[in-house]
Amino acid sequence: MSRKHAFQFLDLPRTMPQRIPVELRTSGDWGELYGKFGKEDAQYQAGRCLDCGNPYCSWKCPVHNAIPQWLQLVQENRIHEAATLCHSTNPLPEVCGRVCPQDRLCEGSCTLEEFGAVTIGAVEKYIVDTALATGWRPDMTAVQPTGHTVAVIGAGPAGLACADRLAHAGITAVVYDRYEQVGGLLQFGIPSFKLDKDVIRRRRDVLEGMGVQFRLGVEIGRDISLQQLLDTHDAVFVGTGAYRYTDGGLDGQDLKGVLPALPFLVQNSRIVGGDDPQGRPIAGWEDQIALPDLNGKRVVVLGGGDTGMDCVRSAVRLGAAKVTCAYRRDEANMPGSAREVANAREEGVRFLFNRQPLSIEAGADDEVIGVTVIETRLGEPDANGRQNAVQIEGSESLLEADVVIIAFGFSPSVPSWLAEHGVEGQANGRILAGGKGKLPFQTAHPRLFAGGDAVRGADLVVTAVAEGRDAAASIARLLAH
Ligand code: FAD
Ligand code: SF4
Repeated sequence: MSRKHAFQFLDLPRTMPQRIPVELRTSGDWGELYGKFGKEDAQYQAGRCLDCGNPYCSWKCPVHNAIPQWLQLVQENRIHEAATLCHSTNPLPEVCGRVCPQDRLCEGSCTLEEFGAVTIGAVEKYIVDTALATGWRPDMTAVQPTGHTVAVIGAGPAGLACADRLAHAGITAVVYDRYEQVGGLLQFGIPSFKLDKDVIRRRRDVLEGMGVQFRLGVEIGRDISLQQLLDTHDAVFVGTGAYRYTDGGLDGQDLKGVLPALPFLVQNSRIVGGDDPQGRPIAGWEDQIALPDLNGKRVVVLGGGDTGMDCVRSAVRLGAAKVTCAYRRDEANMPGSAREVANAREEGVRFLFNRQPLSIEAGADDEVIGVTVIETRLGEPDANGRQNAVQIEGSESLLEADVVIIAFGFSPSVPSWLAEHGVEGQANGRILAGGKGKLPFQTAHPRLFAGGDAVRGADLVVTAVAEGRDAAASIARLLAH
């Protein structure tokens, strides 16, 4: 029965599920920061929705979730129906409910923003976790097998979303990944305090139950050629992500104690997840690093995106004595989620805004001793409309550090095994897909499709999901003819 009354949002404040106390986080707890709503809390929070008639939340959500409709189903405790509705637009809703930067997407456009937006992400997580725990599974009874098979390269969110939709279309999806587990950056990038790894294991079980097959520890272009996939499948989807570092070109970036962000996070998540207590690098991972002991160390992280936030918060949990994030623009221009910045602050991270690194400084044994930074002010907007950081002459200073982690971002590249089949890339390394005369997400090769970070550049889980989902629809169209 619905608990809703029109002005519920005035009586009930927006609340998030309980969080792990900060003392536990700073003493090494890697558990998911936000707990789960119980039935009552979820119903009350869902009941705060105004059902405003023009759901800006749905428009701003990259997969266009039917948010007001599933909030209503939660109030009526019709959780399995809500889960079915969630999955109708989003193949990985429990993941997005956890990791989307909701403040920039659905919740950022909620009509109630002034009174505290509806906690959409946490309710989405509640719906799907509850439904899966009580036996809900995607209904495949009406699916008619087509006899077609499609190879999906990459088991990240783009590849998993594509496989899900192919299965619903009666097409057998065979997913290949060079890693030994599914998830891509969900598994080997995003730390467990944002996304528990059991969530990914459970999603793999759901997909296998739908008939999706996984071939893990297989690198295309090394272990199997693209031609072999084209010979044995009707089409191929490429969701290989974005793994080329943005090189800051800083003097001293190769010193002892200077780490690139992603190998740091990947190895750390393997240690924390118990996959590899020694933190040995993954097969096929070129940028291998030895994970240093951060206990009692002064750590400086360069960069203010999601990756930077994951690095500072991981350093806190690894026992660093002092963690500083230096970012060249101001707080309002940080690319990372405001919620993650607030969580990092609460965990004791110090933020230095308007500081641009100039060089990394060496001690007597070629070990890092700090970063020379210069203060900046915001100048004219660049071609993308973002204000440039202009250096203020004479404002240099040394930021002392025992460990420096570089998190300047990533971009994709077109591997030779794709280029050899006529797939084209842009100057920035993004695979060219879609456009005039093509199906959405179809590359220059008619049977090769691509989506996610490999096509749009490093972005978000939910945009990768949207592209994998829509690419599957294009593939199904191609194969239907
Ligand atoms: P990926 O997730 O990168 O998956 C690509 C897969 O392809 C990988 O598993 C890789 O092993 C595989 N692969 C590549 N080449 C081959 C090959 N030749 N053969 C076989 N397999 C191959 N987004 C959010 O929305 N919220 C967040 O909080 C967030 N935090 C992030 C934190 C970090 C540290 C990073 C790096 C990114 C974060 N992102 C976040 C971004 C998000 O993770 C990515 O946008 C998303 O994972 C992209 O999905 P994808 O499927 O395109 O690629
Ligand atoms: Fe919001 Fe992301 Fe869920 Fe869309 S998928 S409703 S943006 S949390």
